[in-house]
Parts: sequence; C-alpha cells; structure tokens
Amino acid sequence: MTCLPGEAIILLTSVDKMGLEEYRRKREFKRTPEPAGEGGGGGGNRFVVHKHQARHLHYDLRLEMEGVLKSWAVPKGVPVEPGVRRLAVQVEDHPIEYIDFAGSIPEGEYGAGTVEVWDKGNFELDRKAPDQLEFTLKGEKLSGDYVLIRTDGNNWLLIKRKVKSG
Ligand code: MN
Repeated sequence: MTCLPGEAIILLTSVDKMGLEEYRRKREFKRTPEPAGEGGGGGGNRFVVHKHQARHLHYDLRLEMEGVLKSWAVPKGVPVEPGVRRLAVQVEDHPIEYIDFAGSIPEGEYGAGTVEVWDKGNFELDRKAPDQLEFTLKGEKLSGDYVLIRTDGNNWLLIKRKVKSG
C-alpha cells in the first residue's frame, strides 16, 4: 500500500487530533453549500446520521467531540438491531456546523449528491480509548449502546450491543 504524506498523518493520529484541514482541503466553498466551519463551539454531545446519496449510498455517523464532528461513513447504515456489526470507515473531521447540514452537493464536487438528516439526537460517551469508543445513542430512530472498534487504519467496526440481561 502506498501512502501520500497526508494519508500517513491520518493513519497515525488517534481518534482525537485531526482538525478541519483535510475537510477544507477537499472542498471548494464557492461551489458546495456545505459549511466551511468557523471552528470553536462543540462542547455538546449531539450526534447526527446523514443519509448521503453519493455515487454509492452510505450513511455518515457524526459525533460531537473535541470541537469537531468525528465522522464515520457506514456503507450499510448504523445498525438498529442488537448484535449487528457494520464496517465504519473513519473520514475527515467535519465542522460542528455540519450537524444541521442537508442539501445537494453539486456534480463534480467532493461527495456530490444529496445529504439528508436520517437521525439526530444526543449521545453519552461511556468510554474512550484511541481505538475504541463506547457510547449510548438517544435519537429518534437510534437508541441504545454502541461500540466502535478500530480494526485497521481508518477501518472500524460499529456494533450495536445486546441489552444486558438481569
Ligand atoms: Mn458521506
């Protein structure tokens, strides 16, 4: 596998320190309706799942953490049923303002296609390690305990946990 310098940086960073440089580098804000992001804010605990009809339909899980939206593209969607595990590919941090974004990204721009809010709400961060996040979602469609486990580079598994009995 060959790595561009920018990609190597992403692979070496933890879930935390990424910033918005890559987000901004990939987009031309005169052409896309997406927010450039002013930075700052983001002390809350909101989440959003965007349904992104790009070249390939996928869902983007975004968690408000560390002043940005930590983001994962989930090709098959965030699991609703306990015990289900889904591939989740970590993508560039998005600005906090993106949490309310819905719209149409023009042809030829990064992520061209339509973006809609599929679910939103709050989450509780139960445990955070560089390669593992445990959290509870309280949304309109999604609720319950989830875990994200990094398996390799930007690849994570997103698992909805089974409800503990007794
Ligand atoms: Mn996307």
